[in-house]
Amino acid sequence: MLTFQGKSVINKTAIGKIFVYKREERQVIQSKVSDISAELARFHSAREEAIVELRHLYGESAKTVGESGAAIFEMYRIMLEDVSFIEAVENIIAAESINAEYGIAAVSDRFQDMFSGMEDAYMRERAADVKAVSKRMLRILSGDTGGMPELAEPVIIVAEDLTPGETVQLPKEKVLAFVTVQGSPNSHTAILARTMNIPALVRTPLPLDDAIDGKLGVIDGENGLLYVEPEEEILTAIEARREAEEEKRQQFLSLRGRESVTLDGRKINLFANIGNSEDLPMVLENDAEGIGLLRSEFLYLGKKDYPTEEEQFAVYKTVAETMVDKPVIIRTLDIGDDKQADYFKLPKEENPAMGLRGIRICLTRPEVFKTQLRAIFRAGTYGNIAIMYPMITSMEEIRRIKEIVSEVKAELKGEGIPYKELKQGIMIETPAAAIISNELAKEVDFFSIGTNDLTQYTLAIDRQNPELDAFYDAHHPAILKMIQTVVENAHKAGIRVGICGELGADTSLMQDFLQIGVDELSVSPSRILPLRKMIRESGVDKR
Ligand code: PEP
Ligand code: MG
Repeated sequence: MLTFQGKSVINKTAIGKIFVYKREERQVIQSKVSDISAELARFHSAREEAIVELRHLYGESAKTVGESGAAIFEMYRIMLEDVSFIEAVENIIAAESINAEYGIAAVSDRFQDMFSGMEDAYMRERAADVKAVSKRMLRILSGDTGGMPELAEPVIIVAEDLTPGETVQLPKEKVLAFVTVQGSPNSHTAILARTMNIPALVRTPLPLDDAIDGKLGVIDGENGLLYVEPEEEILTAIEARREAEEEKRQQFLSLRGRESVTLDGRKINLFANIGNSEDLPMVLENDAEGIGLLRSEFLYLGKKDYPTEEEQFAVYKTVAETMVDKPVIIRTLDIGDDKQADYFKLPKEENPAMGLRGIRICLTRPEVFKTQLRAIFRAGTYGNIAIMYPMITSMEEIRRIKEIVSEVKAELKGEGIPYKELKQGIMIETPAAAIISNELAKEVDFFSIGTNDLTQYTLAIDRQNPELDAFYDAHHPAILKMIQTVVENAHKAGIRVGICGELGADTSLMQDFLQIGVDELSVSPSRILPLRKMIRESGVDKR
C-alpha cells in the first residue's frame, strides 16, 4: 500500500481505479518510410486540413473580435502556404525517406531557430507562429482531437495539474475523484470540484507513473489522503464512511421543499453556483431556490472557438426554463487569469490576476460582449434571468456597460427579436467596488459579493499560489468589515445583496452573515441543504 498526503477540497470519499493523465506532449519519432509519395501526401493533407481549420477560426473570430484581432489565424494560414516552408518539409521527407511528422518537426525547429536569431522584434515573434502551425499539423497527423482521452470506466484521475478548461471537459459520470500534484484549494479547478461535488485533492506529491497508474485507489477526503492498493482495513473503513455519507445525504434530502428561514423568521435565499446546464440535475436534487452565479465563462473554456450567440442562447434558455420562475443570475464572461481559452489570444501577462480579465475584456472587445448579451437578453423571455457583471471597480465601467446594453437592446428591437428587460447587478469582488459600494448601489439592481477575489485583492495574496495558503485568511477581519459595509450600502439604496464566493458556504460564519443582514448565499449545489438545516436552527439575534 502506498499513501500520499494532499490538501482536500471536499470532505468526501472515493474508491476506484486510478488513471494517470499526462497532458499531451507530442514526442515526434523519426521513422524511415518506403513510400515517399504517400508520406508527401500525408504532409499535404495535414497542411490543407490545418488551412481549413485556420480559415474557419479566422472567419468566426473576425465576427467577434474584428479583423485585426483575428489576423493571427490569417498569419498562420499564410505560413502554411509559404513555399520555402513547404519545400523544406518536402525535401527532408524525400531526401531522408522519413515520416511527415519528423519532417515537419525538423523544419519547424530550423525555422524557429532562424526567426529567434533575427534582430527585428517582429520577426523574432514569428518563431512562436512556426511552432503553433507545426503543432497543429502534428495534431492532425496523430488523429488526436486534443483533450482528455475517452474513459472506459469511472476512474480517479491523477495529474500534475488540471486547468479549469480541462476540468470543465471532464466527463462527470466517469470521474470518481481527481488528485493533482499542483493546484490550490482556492483555484477555479477546486471550485469546479466543489460545484460537481467530486472529491478532489490538490498539492499531492506523487509519482505519475506505473507505481499508481491502473491501481486501485482510495480517497479519504476528510484527511486529504490517497491510498494506492489499500490494505483491507483501510478499504473497510472507507466503505463504512461512504455508507455514513450516504445516510447523511438522505437526511439532508428530507429538507427539500422546506423554507430557509431562521427560528426568528428571517428568510435567506439559498442559491446554487453552477458552470453550465449540465449542473442542473444537482441544482434540482438539492432544491436550490435559484441560481446565484452561473459562471458563463465555463461555456468558453475547453473549446477551440468562441461559443456562438445561438449556442449560448440554448444553454441560458435551458437553465431559465428548468428553473421555471426561480431567479437565474448569469454572470457575464469572466475569462482571464487562470481561466484561459487560446482563441482569445490574451497577451502573456506578468500579473494575470490583475490583468485583462472579466469585464475588462468585455469592455475592450465589445463584439464578444455583445454576442453574449444578445444571448442572455433573448433567453430572458423564457424565465427569471438577471445579469451580473464581474470585476467591477468604477462608476465609469457601469456607465460604459449601460451604453453597450442599450445598443444591444436597440439592435434586437431593430431586428424584431424578442427580449426581456432584465435586472442587472454587479459582483463586489474588488476593494475599490466595496469602498464605493454606496455609489454603485444607486446604479444597479443587486450586489453579489465575490469573496474569493475580494480576499485575494484585499490581502494581496494570489489565490492560486499554494505557497501562500497559510496567509490566505478567509476570515480576515478586513473581509468581514467589507462585507458589512457593502451590505449596509446595498440596503441603504434598497437593493439586495448576496455572497457568491466560497465563503458563503462557511458554516462557521453563518451567524455573522445573519447578523450582518446578508440576503442570499449562493454556494455549490451540495452545500445547500446542510446550510438550510443550519439556517432553520439559527436565530438572527442568537450569538
Ligand atoms: C469570487 O471571486 O468570489 C467569485 C465568485 O468569482 P470567481 O471565483 O469565479 O472568480
Ligand atoms: Mg471572482
